[in-house]
Amino acid sequence: MATVHTAAGPVDSAELGKVLVHEHVFIVGEEFRQNYQDDWDEDAKVAEAVHDLAELKELGIDTILDPTVLGLGRYIPRIQRIAEQIDLNIVVATGLYTYNDIPFQFHYAGPGLLFDVPEPLVDLFTKDLTEGIADTGVRAAFLKCAIEEQGLTPGVERVMRAVGQTSAQTGAPITVHTNPHTQSGLVAQKVLAEEGADLTKVVIGHSGDSVDLDYLMKIADAGSILGMDRFGLDLLLPFEDRVNTVAELCKRGYADRMALAHDASCFIDWFDHEAKKQALPKWNYRHISDDVLPALRERGVSDADITTMLVDVPRRYFE
Ligand SMILES: [Zn+2]
Repeated sequence: MATVHTAAGPVDSAELGKVLVHEHVFIVGEEFRQNYQDDWDEDAKVAEAVHDLAELKELGIDTILDPTVLGLGRYIPRIQRIAEQIDLNIVVATGLYTYNDIPFQFHYAGPGLLFDVPEPLVDLFTKDLTEGIADTGVRAAFLKCAIEEQGLTPGVERVMRAVGQTSAQTGAPITVHTNPHTQSGLVAQKVLAEEGADLTKVVIGHSGDSVDLDYLMKIADAGSILGMDRFGLDLLLPFEDRVNTVAELCKRGYADRMALAHDASCFIDWFDHEAKKQALPKWNYRHISDDVLPALRERGVSDADITTMLVDVPRRYFE
């Protein structure tokens, strides 16, 4: 057992229940919102999120892990407002999301830079995990970084090494946004292991965008958890391919190395809201409960394996 900090306070890891390991509530750049999002209605957006997440709880999901970090518009007071109105646990993260460069807040300060100081990212991530985020009293419970098709750019490497070091020092688990088509999960495993992170505490996110079983088993055999975490993003990989891949990996004994999610959000400012709904009608919090679990059962995945992926793997991730 371990204590897991959520937006509404600490819970025991045994009480996380059924967990979706990668869901956003809002992806909203605050600078952009304040300058250009003229139609933003804070109360309406919060009410919509409360509705969608309460519905998810009614479908039997108890907890979401929200890896919305710096670069994606993390804003904890809004998450707190939502969390206090619902029964669902929202577990928040620290880290930094970039595919390329380090943001200017860190460009000139760090080891060997113009202002030669210890890595400031490690201090910020550690504070979020051990003391709390800003003055909200909410603690992050896991770390997040990204490596896309651009690969290990200097900015991506700096963030990833800081995430690895922070995990090694605090024991906090990690989620990495990866691109399985460039096999960037293997690069993430190598870099994080070099910094002392425990690979069994790492979700290699977006692995579910791939049907390459050799690649996926290689990641899992090194101990990490495959994030089968983009159900509903069918433009990137169709539904059938996603469920067949999970079913095949269950058949091969990998249920204890997989976790499920949609990578959905109530609102994301990257796309036009209505156009997104039309192009990706299943990209919402309900899809796994409504469609994916029945499809997995039809393909012979046992209830025990489903419980492993939804309950046991996320619980072990924090213990
Ligand atoms: Zn995401």
